[in-house]
Amino acid sequence: MTKVGLPGRDPVPIGDVASPAFARLPDPRALFATRAKRFRNLAAGHDLEPYLLFLAGLAEVQDRVQLGLAEPVLPGPDALRRSREFAMPPLDRNRFVADSVYETTLDRLLPLADTVPMPNAAAEALGRVRVADAILRESMTQAVLAHAIPVEAMAEHSYIAAALQVHFARLAARLDPKSLVPVGDGACPVCGGPPTASMVVGWQGAHGTRYCGCGLCGTLWNYVRIKCALCASTKGIGYQEIEGGPGIVKAETCNSCHGYLKILQQHKDPAVDIVADDVASLGLDLLVREAGFRRGGVNPFLLGY
Ligand SMILES: [Zn+2]
Ligand SMILES: [Zn+2]
Repeated sequence: MTKVGLPGRDPVPIGDVASPAFARLPDPRALFATRAKRFRNLAAGHDLEPYLLFLAGLAEVQDRVQLGLAEPVLPGPDALRRSREFAMPPLDRNRFVADSVYETTLDRLLPLADTVPMPNAAAEALGRVRVADAILRESMTQAVLAHAIPVEAMAEHSYIAAALQVHFARLAARLDPKSLVPVGDGACPVCGGPPTASMVVGWQGAHGTRYCGCGLCGTLWNYVRIKCALCASTKGIGYQEIEGGPGIVKAETCNSCHGYLKILQQHKDPAVDIVADDVASLGLDLLVREAGFRRGGVNPFLLGY
């Protein structure tokens, strides 16, 4: 890292005085391998242990499925430039059209998922997805992207969501982070979706700042603290957590929109993961929901949401 300093003084890393980067794009190989480990660690002794272990296995599949996949196809330079000019997400999830790379990702992921130890219901759901025709797969894909997953078919959609996460993370990784601009409060600057959760980070150069995280494309984007990431209100912001817990996950509640988003303390535990820690802190959702707040974060793996 470049450092500046005066003679006789400790050098100051430039990163610590510069403003934090607006966006951090995913490294798709590291993303899912790290997530798998986190799910596994969170599973031990947890009430949801079998489910968290299943998701650990699925994240391992998301990592492995990438080997040998063709390059995903980004929009052309003109389209990317227009998105930036009009502050639109460059990989708008609402305009996603399945291409052969996505279809191959899904085709390869399903048999790999069959090797993961899983509860019976999850195995039966996988069987149904494996025999689904193109039309059904397409409608499930659109349901995941529109956050309109039917509660009774959540298990089926989790495999589709897994393939979409891989595909979007691979696309996002190929963008230039410096080309990204804010596209609206509570929206991922890459795919336009709502955050899954947010986290206060301990990264050098950005220590103590907050990033929102997208569960679809894996992008993290900077968002000031003590401000509702859903409606941008700075009034009536509160924090709730499970009493006696490790203090790693809190819910940031907003009295203006009555929504909440989780905020992970990455600076206290560098291993936290937006998706895994969100699923494992389901108890916090129940607590905050009882207090009358609506969940603002989106996560296709979160039971009951
Ligand atoms: Zn995104
Ligand atoms: Zn709000």
